[in-house]
Amino acid sequence: MYKIAQVDPVKCSATSCRLCTLFCPEPNTLFYDERRHTAFVAIDRCKGCAACVRICTDVAKRDCIKMIPVEAALGGFEMSRYGLPGRAQ
Ligand code: SF4
Ligand code: SF4
Repeated sequence: MYKIAQVDPVKCSATSCRLCTLFCPEPNTLFYDERRHTAFVAIDRCKGCAACVRICTDVAKRDCIKMIPVEAALGGFEMSRYGLPGRAQ
């Protein structure tokens, strides 16, 4: 089963620390959405390493990111829905 990271936007937006976005080893995968005030994952690019989960849980002490089966990803492909940050929709 292939797992990808998914951010809980309600929990994340309570602090919006952005820490996880600094540590994802994959380019253009873990973003911060200024409009929704939350980090989000481009699930079509996530490699499932779970580094962001450790950062959010162990360093930021927020526990906003879970690894979930790719089939269970809510909201579909974030990149398709929201595009790259700063790009006109
Ligand atoms: S580390 Fe956690 S709280 Fe901070 S931006 Fe990432 S998901 Fe949100
Ligand atoms: S699981 Fe790894 S590749 Fe996927 S968003 Fe988190 S840090 Fe990036």
